[in-house]
Amino acid sequence: MPEDRADNGKRKDFLIAMLKRFYPKRYEASAYVIPFEQYQAKGYRGVIFDIDNTLALHGAPADEQALELFERLREIGMKTCLLSNNKEMRVRDFAEKVDSPYLYKGGKPRVRGYERAMKLMDTERENTLFVGDQLFTDVYGANRAGIYSILVKPMDPQEEIQIVLKRYLEKPVLYFYKRQCLR
Ligand SMILES: [Mg+2]
Repeated sequence: MPEDRADNGKRKDFLIAMLKRFYPKRYEASAYVIPFEQYQAKGYRGVIFDIDNTLALHGAPADEQALELFERLREIGMKTCLLSNNKEMRVRDFAEKVDSPYLYKGGKPRVRGYERAMKLMDTERENTLFVGDQLFTDVYGANRAGIYSILVKPMDPQEEIQIVLKRYLEKPVLYFYKRQCLR
């Protein structure tokens, strides 16, 4: 029946529109391979980072690689802010090592944390990047805030059970994202 087909088409459009809210603008293998210099040349001036499984293993301190990245960002004139849903102590320790402003218990995916991060960096949504490893908190929140979102592969393959469950739910979204947006 043609009517059924129209209904199915509408349902599919709706589903895709729903899924797109979780799609990142870019998908990178790691936060450490992102070409920040290119974004800087395009006019981006600030980067909001998730910490756990984005910049370090869950709970792990900032290592040499992280220190170098933040130093490199400073050199090219990119502001930074750490935005984590984790506790103050974890976030503060990491932030002090890489010498960056930070927000703990960030409430992602709510937009408030992203807006506060931009205020701390004195940037706008148009010239701010977000980098994180989770679709339903990190990327969804950045998209809602109107910020360019970069999803990275989680650093740790061994994750806690509640995260494993979320990863399971991420799978179908990533499947459609890769089919529609990646060649
Ligand atoms: Mg994370």
